[in-house]
Amino acid sequence: MATPNPTKHILVIPFPAQGHLLPLLDLVHLLSMRHGFSLSILVTPQNLPLIQPFLSSTPTASPLLFPLPSHPSIPPGIEHSRHLPPHIHPALLSLPLSLLKPQILSWSKSIPNPISLLISDSFLGWTESLAREIGVPRVNFASTGAFGTAVIDYLYLHVPKKTNELIQLESLPSSPSFPYLELPRVWCCYKPGDPDWEFIRESILANFSSWGVMTNTFNALESEYISFLKNFYGHNRVWAVGPIQPTGPVASHGGNSSVSSAELTAWLATCPQKSVVYVCFGSQYTPSESQASAIATALELSGVRFIWPLGGLSAVIPEGFEERTKGKGLVIRGWAPQVEILHHPAVGSFLTHCGWNSVLEGVVAGVTLLTWPVQAEQFINAKLLVQAVGMALKAASGSDAVPEAEELAKIFAESVGMRAASLTDEMREKAVEIQREAVAAVNEGGSSHKDILDFVNAISLK
Ligand code: UDP
Repeated sequence: MATPNPTKHILVIPFPAQGHLLPLLDLVHLLSMRHGFSLSILVTPQNLPLIQPFLSSTPTASPLLFPLPSHPSIPPGIEHSRHLPPHIHPALLSLPLSLLKPQILSWSKSIPNPISLLISDSFLGWTESLAREIGVPRVNFASTGAFGTAVIDYLYLHVPKKTNELIQLESLPSSPSFPYLELPRVWCCYKPGDPDWEFIRESILANFSSWGVMTNTFNALESEYISFLKNFYGHNRVWAVGPIQPTGPVASHGGNSSVSSAELTAWLATCPQKSVVYVCFGSQYTPSESQASAIATALELSGVRFIWPLGGLSAVIPEGFEERTKGKGLVIRGWAPQVEILHHPAVGSFLTHCGWNSVLEGVVAGVTLLTWPVQAEQFINAKLLVQAVGMALKAASGSDAVPEAEELAKIFAESVGMRAASLTDEMREKAVEIQREAVAAVNEGGSSHKDILDFVNAISLK
């Protein structure tokens, strides 16, 4: 561990959703371990247990605990996105958090070791003015990739009209176009004139003037979009620091599972190399009954080995499925140790909802990615993988999609080499190349390693 560096005290304000919170904590853990920075992590009482593993493994970090103020748009008692009813967009949690501004400000004036930098999530653009009032630079942490960030920025800047036609994002590299409903939900939910949503828009626009940006991606995957962001923000302080590695106890990424890690490893040890399909839709989405039924039928028809965590809300699967597939697959109720599973040599492919963390985890593990985006900026991520980079195969698309079980079965079988593949050699080669680049990026001398050093140099000059 690095010697503590008392001259740098970073205030970290994460956004309370797993996909945002975990990579930011992993990143600042690394900054603390390598460079000794002191960290104060803003957290509300309900989320404190969630960050406990991080606090225990990061000696220079302490929680900055404030109760979450009430706000008319958020039901009382909710402090984390996963407890919100589906009609409330998680980004609106930024509203009650923003009410903490005066308390954070007076705390910052009262402490002996003054704050020298603020790092906060891109859903918390209001922290830009907080940083200004404290008198420190702010780094905007974008938990999604550069393409996803560029799309959200573009939409909130240009506010294109809602239409049934494709919406073309003209100034972005290759001018991509998307059906309206495949654009990030954080934009589709925007209601012009609604005070809550105007606040969100102002927050996103405020991100454009942050002193720096850290994004969880790497050059070989998104160089075009990283350059785009540098141009867009008008400076080079856009650091691509990914894939941010899950570290220490944070690595399990939390959650209870119905299958122990030992059981999983024992079962995987019985499977040939690259023979298992892993199916997972992340922490926010539960497939509908008809989607779960299509997936189950396809898994059965294909005869592949599989691991399928059903998620927190447990998707409803067809009766008898587990008995019929006994030995062939594992259905997990609750949380799966995803990173561990993906890295097991027996796992060959991953049907993913294309949440950004899952994408990066799949890329690093070098499994074949089968895409089925359902919401948020997942359609953007799927387009990046399937079209722009050409390293993944489309399995399905959309939260209403129910693929033909026979078709999906073919894709499953092809992805683990049980059928002649429509997966081209080119696609497989690209995936291998990007995996190699992902691993190299974070190692000494790699592009993301260099960007972290560049960030550390830039803040030490401030
Ligand atoms: N995850 C996990 N086990 C599960 C489901 C999800 O470990 O059963 C982790 C996964 O490894 C990833 C994160 O939860 O790090 C999900 O983030 P992502 O950005 O992929 O999707 P989101 O949940 O935000 O839609």
